[in-house]
Amino acid sequence: EAELRALEQEYCSHGDTVHYTDHPMFFDRCEGSYVYDAKDTPFLDLQMWYSAVNFGYRNARLNAAAHRQLDTLPQVASQYLHREKVELAAMIAKDAERKFGAKGRVHFNVGGSQAVEDSLKLVRNYTGGKSLMFAFEGGYHGRTLGASAITSSYRYRRRYGHFGDRAQFIEFPYHFRGPKGMSKEEYGHYCVQKFARLFESEYNGVWDPKTGKAEYAAFYVEPIQGTGGYVIPPMNFFKELKKVLDDHGILLVVDEIQMGVYRTGKLWSIEHFGVTPDALVFGKAITNGLNPLSGVWAKEEMINPGIFPPGSTHSTFASNPMGTAVALETMKMLEEEDFGAAVMEKGAYFLDGLKELQKRHPTIGDVDGLGLALRVEICKEDGFTPDKATLDWMADEGMKGDLVVGNKKYGLVLDVGGYYKNVITLAPNLLITREEIDLALNLLDQLFVRAAK
Ligand code: PMP
Repeated sequence: EAELRALEQEYCSHGDTVHYTDHPMFFDRCEGSYVYDAKDTPFLDLQMWYSAVNFGYRNARLNAAAHRQLDTLPQVASQYLHREKVELAAMIAKDAERKFGAKGRVHFNVGGSQAVEDSLKLVRNYTGGKSLMFAFEGGYHGRTLGASAITSSYRYRRRYGHFGDRAQFIEFPYHFRGPKGMSKEEYGHYCVQKFARLFESEYNGVWDPKTGKAEYAAFYVEPIQGTGGYVIPPMNFFKELKKVLDDHGILLVVDEIQMGVYRTGKLWSIEHFGVTPDALVFGKAITNGLNPLSGVWAKEEMINPGIFPPGSTHSTFASNPMGTAVALETMKMLEEEDFGAAVMEKGAYFLDGLKELQKRHPTIGDVDGLGLALRVEICKEDGFTPDKATLDWMADEGMKGDLVVGNKKYGLVLDVGGYYKNVITLAPNLLITREEIDLALNLLDQLFVRAAK
């Protein structure tokens, strides 16, 4: 491993952040909810690559679909046709039609960021070339140039944001850090009202005084913020927001790349909020972290061949047979079983356990969750001041692989998110067992005890 580490230091770009430099680990193999190092220590994974491996590592049914495809037709470029691409598009579009009451089509790509790029093209085409967008403070949509422009972190946007500073970032109802004395619902309402006020004055430049029409094309939202710290807005929030958008002819584009595919107990997390998006972007868990596949669903008016002409966007691997075959199997699996109820039930059990931990550890400022998207916010002793340093230390400590339960050693893989990078964003395997949730709570408890010393 020392040799590999030396090669990594010399030959790998460090453009990907290497998070836990004190205890770098080379992942060797994986199974279910665990990844293993070369010494075969199990590391309980509570992030599954930011909610990409929702159905567990090496899920037998999905792996079998990948093997079948590998042995028949592993690659066709996106300009050509194969069965799985068409069946998958039809399945996603029909499901959306049932749920959202809108007919639409699907365009595939490889990674999440690329699907966001495709959606930006659709929005531009449909709105006659408008390139101004609204997005949320704390929002994340990817690291390609267009996606960087609508991602809130200024540090990256300043360097790479393709549209310069042409996205405007709107307050998201992050209730734990919101104004004191407001209920969650009141705060959601307050944020929508604050946004609506932008349209009152010509001075704000969100509409053209000559035509009276909005200059902004779309609002990009994550229904539950992912990288922003698994922040769950009040349930009335998106309905109220959508009304303002409709009043001004602004499109709603929903980014389901992290929260989609049953992370919150539904195929798309926006389904919790009772609104119909104009476009919806997905990726990650649709292939359970096997061959990557992403896509954008959009209502017919935005994506028909007149608006999105042949040749607008194609790519060698965009709708690749390996990815589409696994995604199709994922969709079939989800239709056959009631995943939603199981995810909600496990999520409630996990959340109860986290609330118990909070009682014992005053440094846990906030816990919350929807389905198996759970947040634990780490603070100083006052339970409020963000404490990034302690969480960095805890995440690193989890990577040592020396936590003990019974007579067995374990590691813990945690992801860190949030505006202050002080939130454990928990996205466990959706097939996690109660015993594994108990183990997760035990290992987290041990980390809090160590951190307090
Ligand atoms: N949008 C959201 C909400 C995401 O969480 C991510 C990935 N973390 C992306 C977009 C970008 O996806 P990818 O990393 O596959 O490019």
